[in-house]
Amino acid sequence: MGQGAVGVLQVKWELVGHGWATCRLGDDSQAVSVTASYCTDALADLVAGVGELYGRQRSARFFFDAEPQEFRWVLRATDDAIDVTLYEFPDVAVSLDCPDSDGTVIWQSAHPRPAFAHAVWEAADTVLREHGEAGYHAKWAMHPYPFGLVQDLRRLHMRDDVCDLPHDLPCP
Ligand SMILES: [Zn+2]
Repeated sequence: MGQGAVGVLQVKWELVGHGWATCRLGDDSQAVSVTASYCTDALADLVAGVGELYGRQRSARFFFDAEPQEFRWVLRATDDAIDVTLYEFPDVAVSLDCPDSDGTVIWQSAHPRPAFAHAVWEAADTVLREHGEAGYHAKWAMHPYPFGLVQDLRRLHMRDDVCDLPHDLPCP
């Protein structure tokens, strides 16, 4: 997706089994889905990573452990967009210290920060509304729902971004 292109980013977070989640990304021209196990607190890392881009930090990186793959996220804030790159490495047991260039790029896009932050926040909020805090914790098992981080992201997004989308979504 080129700079300034209009693409509607879709982010969906699905709890797919005990301690497993799938994160789907899609826009007008591409789609990818990546797996995360509860070895890391994957949804919390995603939400926190986006939140970090509201401060002076210009980039955030974290990884999902798909046992055995590593899915490495690199978010970079430019003057008018967030660049999102996802790398896949075949074995997380050996790749955590490897440079990004050793991985396979499976997703690359750029979005205005309001659109990206809103899509991530809404994905996290939708998971909560689908499962509730107790249901989320029961399925994800190792970590509670990252309520504080999701609230922080919503607060930063509403404070610093111009976004016309709704932020108090009705129950499904
Ligand atoms: Zn919004």
